[in-house]
Amino acid sequence: MSSLILIVEDEAPLAEMLRYNLEREGFRTVLAITGEEALNRVGVEVPDLAIVDWMLPERSGIDVCRELRARTGTKNLPIIMLTARGEEGDRVLGLEAGADDYVVKPYSPREMIARVQALLRRSDLQGGGKKEYAGIVIDQDTHKVTRDGKAISLSPTGYKLLETLMEKPGRVYSRERLLGRVRGGDVFVEPRTVDVHIRRLRKALNAQGGADIIRTVRGAGYAIDAEKA
Ligand code: CA
Repeated sequence: MSSLILIVEDEAPLAEMLRYNLEREGFRTVLAITGEEALNRVGVEVPDLAIVDWMLPERSGIDVCRELRARTGTKNLPIIMLTARGEEGDRVLGLEAGADDYVVKPYSPREMIARVQALLRRSDLQGGGKKEYAGIVIDQDTHKVTRDGKAISLSPTGYKLLETLMEKPGRVYSRERLLGRVRGGDVFVEPRTVDVHIRRLRKALNAQGGADIIRTVRGAGYAIDAEKA
């Protein structure tokens, strides 16, 4: 599936132009006009990258950036700050608020696409052999899993499911997508068996008394989400 880019921009023509150019490059996009709307959006589905305009009505882009960094699900979300202000002080403030990159208006669509692609590549390279979320650590070299430092024993299917869910905490993965990830070679797996594997995974993760952080989204699938409670 192609990467999902969240565009937070209150000026409709600029937002539409950005959307058009990103979609032409094969990205999926979601648009938010205010900071509040953007923060609600990421609660539904965590994007792969966010482009945030500095000047927004009500909450500023800087404020949105800080809030995204403060939340568990979007702590590592790649963010490009968009602004008409090109002074060095602004640039520093934007980066301090947590933006990864900075694009000054007016910009060429080609430049923006190049920045988006570069940032996505960079964030793909990060993470290496370990993934961590809400106290759960998976070691992708040894396939060992711990929660709050205590070992958790998972079946290979349970491990694969957890590994997939932890790629984007907060994002809802459909049964079909999860199935695609766990199905290996000639093993046939019914979509409904994903539910069974999720139930087992839940049980294993919560065996030592931790909160249940797997969110079931009726009709849609599953997400790992520490903020569900
Ligand atoms: Ca604006």
